[in-house]
Amino acid sequence: MGKRTLVLTPWYFPHKVVSWQTAVTMMYLGKVDVLVSYSEELRSPSTTIKTPAVLRLKKKVITVKRGVRFSRLNVYTRDNFTCMYCATRLPASELTFDHVLPRSRGGATRWENIVSACHPCNRKKGNRTPEQAGMDPLRRPYRPQTLPMLPPRIDLETVPDEWRAFCEALPQTG
Ligand SMILES: [Zn+2]
Repeated sequence: MGKRTLVLTPWYFPHKVVSWQTAVTMMYLGKVDVLVSYSEELRSPSTTIKTPAVLRLKKKVITVKRGVRFSRLNVYTRDNFTCMYCATRLPASELTFDHVLPRSRGGATRWENIVSACHPCNRKKGNRTPEQAGMDPLRRPYRPQTLPMLPPRIDLETVPDEWRAFCEALPQTG
């Protein structure tokens, strides 16, 4: 049986997806409350329990990661999936890198010179400096010490019904 279990933070936000075996271990260690169970039962010689579908952690969890490497997804995460020119929040598939000082003018591809931008803003700015384009990023780009951990990628089309109510708050990071 390959049922998987959704684990929520204490504040009911999807944290991770684990195997049912891991979920049962967490239950026996007293680390979680069971919010929803599947109808299937797990039997052992001494007990029968329902397979956990959704658990909630009792204690605070660490939701930041350290030692952040430069990557497209990490830049978007630093910028909260928001175009740094027009402030529109977008899925990753609709964002792109913008070199604040364009590459053609010696701008490097690194944290301090890259912001997230939507395609229209990126095209509009083109090969111009912020001064020339009259487009200053909303925030000066920086190298982050930590980043928020992204919630698990969960496809809302295929989630088990038992999870659905808890997944609606998830951003679709595309
Ligand atoms: Zn934009």
